[in-house]
Amino acid sequence: MSEEYIGKRHSADKSRRNLLKAGAVLAAAMPIAAGMAGSAAAQEASAATGQSIQITSNRSTPSVIGDPAQFSGHAVIDPLFPANEFTGATGGLVTFAPGARTAWHTHPAGQMLIVTEGKGWVQEEGAEKREIKPGDVVWIPVGVNHWHGATDTSGMAHIAISYMRDGSNVTWGELVTDDEFAK
Ligand code: MN
Repeated sequence: MSEEYIGKRHSADKSRRNLLKAGAVLAAAMPIAAGMAGSAAAQEASAATGQSIQITSNRSTPSVIGDPAQFSGHAVIDPLFPANEFTGATGGLVTFAPGARTAWHTHPAGQMLIVTEGKGWVQEEGAEKREIKPGDVVWIPVGVNHWHGATDTSGMAHIAISYMRDGSNVTWGELVTDDEFAK
């Protein structure tokens, strides 16, 4: 609809009203159009993977007690999600009793820790241990030798997102000694 076309057939006021009407109709139609585009995208994604949204109920996966070769003290791992071709990482909630900690270890593709409870420590080799608390997000870069766990007097829980490389997300080393933990 050109200005010229409107100008020739309607008074200025009338054409302005008509333009406003047309605008309102367009605005009302736009969310529908956007919704349709979203739905089409979802259908495309669904067609690509054959998958639907998946909800894993809280605590529907059995808890695992931390292997004493990999954890000192009492640690419980609640698996949250396995790695797949899209996530490329495993997720787990790890709950440490006071004094509990991982062994020294590295991650071949890094690890993200999100602290959810209590107070803990994280240390990388050659540096001082650092305190971590709920809401803190800790990135462990590829290959950095480190440990994480509770403090000596408080428990700690964190969600660990461990990125995969060649089917592995961790390389375990020696247990953290009581002397190392206390330093
Ligand atoms: Mn780690």
